[in-house]
Amino acid sequence: MRLGVGYPASARLGHARLDLDEMASAGVSVVVLEVSEEDAFERAVHVAALVDDARGRGLEVRVAPRGVLGLFAGGGASLAIARDPTIRQRLTDGSFVPAACPNDHGTGAWLERWLDAVLGVRPDAIAWAEPRLWVPLHDPWHAGRRDAWACACARCAEAWALGRHDAPGGVLPTAFTAEVRDFRRRSLIGLLEPAFARAHRAGVRNVLTVAPATGDHPEALPWETLLGLAYVDGLGTDACNEVTGSAADEAAFRAARVVRVTRGRVDGHVRFRLDGIGAARGDDLVAAVAAAVAAGVDEVVVRTWPDVEPSDVKRAARGAPAPLPAGTAWRLLADTALGAR
Ligand SMILES: [Zn+2]
Repeated sequence: MRLGVGYPASARLGHARLDLDEMASAGVSVVVLEVSEEDAFERAVHVAALVDDARGRGLEVRVAPRGVLGLFAGGGASLAIARDPTIRQRLTDGSFVPAACPNDHGTGAWLERWLDAVLGVRPDAIAWAEPRLWVPLHDPWHAGRRDAWACACARCAEAWALGRHDAPGGVLPTAFTAEVRDFRRRSLIGLLEPAFARAHRAGVRNVLTVAPATGDHPEALPWETLLGLAYVDGLGTDACNEVTGSAADEAAFRAARVVRVTRGRVDGHVRFRLDGIGAARGDDLVAAVAAAVAAGVDEVVVRTWPDVEPSDVKRAARGAPAPLPAGTAWRLLADTALGAR
């Protein structure tokens, strides 16, 4: 059992070093540095220093594409899309969104640029976090119609017409059909596969965390197809949507699915997102982590934070409960996850 901590690469070095000390002494063995396009293109020296600091403390270092091209988890603006808005996805209602089209060659080129920049800091693995196309339901600006879907741009229509990604050809439908769903999934995988191969050639593993969506959900990806790709070395999903009293049941169910699919093939993990979790939820967190460990996952990864975030300040102003301090969370997790070995 390994315990990993997700940590923003934009953190100040002095603060990050103290946090890395705390992680290492708690028994954490993996740090997942979340590297945005800005971090990779404009602060690569800073990221390299963090990688060296983490490795110097005996930690395995993974790099995650924080919000890169609007296609991965973490949020933030994409420099690539600001420089070249023609690569944006288009919804079926005609509006453009701040995420890149997987069938546009420019998108592949920008992803390669980000990847080359982070391969330059010599991580052990890339932690590809939640690759997905735009879903209007999750848009905080509610800019597009709720029933619209992406990507329906000219490149995607052309790819569909030419039968790429096993599309049936003809005119790209406006309805969200099963064929459209498969086409979107294959388009995204078609973008990721060369990136996985590129990382592999550099001696860097690919660890994939997918959204917990299943079935017909527009964010669902086919796990079997992903595991069938040549260079996927680890697979997992979120343990729960939120750490509450029912998180342990959810974590047990999702962890069991991860174990069932990955056992004997690649390492399986579950991820907890702890941003802004209340201090009073410590017991629920411990129960959820214990449930995931009992299910037999190889790794538990938690996404965490280096400082009090503005959202915490707002919560405190509204009289919301105090957040669980990061160091406390790491120790709770380490005691639970590693104590159960
Ligand atoms: Zn497109």
